[in-house]
Amino acid sequence: MIPPIYSPAADRYDNGMKYRRCGRSGILLPEISLGLWHNFGDVNPLANSLAMAHHAFDHGITHFDLANNYGPSYGSAEETFGQIMKKSFAPYRDELFISSKAGYDMWPGPYGNWGSRKYLMSSLDQSLRRMNLEYVDLFYTHRYDPETPLEETLQALVDIVRQGKALYIGISRYPKEAAQFAYRYLEERDVHCLLYQGKYNLLNREPEEEGILRQAQENGTGFIAFSPLAQGLLTNRYLNGIPADSRMAQGGSLKENVLTPALLGKLKALDKLAGQRGQTLAEMALAWVLKDEMVTSVIIGASSVEQLEDNLKAIGNTQFSEEELKAIEEILD
Ligand code: NDP
Repeated sequence: MIPPIYSPAADRYDNGMKYRRCGRSGILLPEISLGLWHNFGDVNPLANSLAMAHHAFDHGITHFDLANNYGPSYGSAEETFGQIMKKSFAPYRDELFISSKAGYDMWPGPYGNWGSRKYLMSSLDQSLRRMNLEYVDLFYTHRYDPETPLEETLQALVDIVRQGKALYIGISRYPKEAAQFAYRYLEERDVHCLLYQGKYNLLNREPEEEGILRQAQENGTGFIAFSPLAQGLLTNRYLNGIPADSRMAQGGSLKENVLTPALLGKLKALDKLAGQRGQTLAEMALAWVLKDEMVTSVIIGASSVEQLEDNLKAIGNTQFSEEELKAIEEILD
């Protein structure tokens, strides 16, 4: 049987998505972006991955975030995305903003990890092949490498832009000092750092506390928050036990021992507060990150179209009263 040809929703830019300017740049990103870390690997049904990608694009999500090793297995989320490109998205390439990264363990031996020029350059070539792309919109160094001279990592990024393999570049999880060095080094070579990617959510305030958000703003760089739902903790997923199909039950990146009775109590109180705002806990958690104008976008993960639908509703109300903010802090104290 010939699969039906995908035709995106005609109203995809008129049904609620808002776009924010990414630092001092020409790029606008949707307030909600979709990450493919989980649920897009070769262990996951392609039909569900396709349905989520379609739903996202149909609702104005133009930004898809990947990395070389997303899966499992390593590389397979990029391969899935390559299939999505082939089956559905190829005619819309110019409407999409696609990112990938290198920095974590990818292939055996000394050249498949961290921040060398050798690793970044070969990894991006592999990513492009897997994704059926000629270029990525954004390429990140996925983490700071304390052993490799920062100049080497950053010069590789500059050269990747000059080669036309990435239009923009970004840094992910860099300590503040290294980030400052990167912003300056790149600016001096006329390759502006488009985005800083960092973990930011109600339970993890590091970018705010360490001044990473402010620093990005001062350097004209956008900030994009990953794991804004704390991998699912800040949703209704775990309020009544650990569902068998949840990320926590899989025992990978989200361990059961984080869900202490004390945390569960806080999550239940946050859920109640969200209800009073007319939101689900997930919607309120995303709205809380987006209330800050220094945040360009949140990169969510999802395992179903229903979760995506829920998360998209967050955009409707990202305003908080002083009382609500105080109540949140009291709950999390
Ligand atoms: P989230 O914090 O958004 O967690 C996503 C998980 O939360 C989903 O898989 C799902 O869990 C659950 N969930 C999502 N929406 C709902 C909902 N409405 N109701 C109930 N449960 C929900 O993000 P991720 O941790 O997945 O990270 C998002 C992206 O950020 C990644 O895909 C990646 O692109 C990027 N990232 C970058 C990193 C970096 O080092 N730069 C590190 C980590 C992530 P379940 O699967 O159990 O249903």
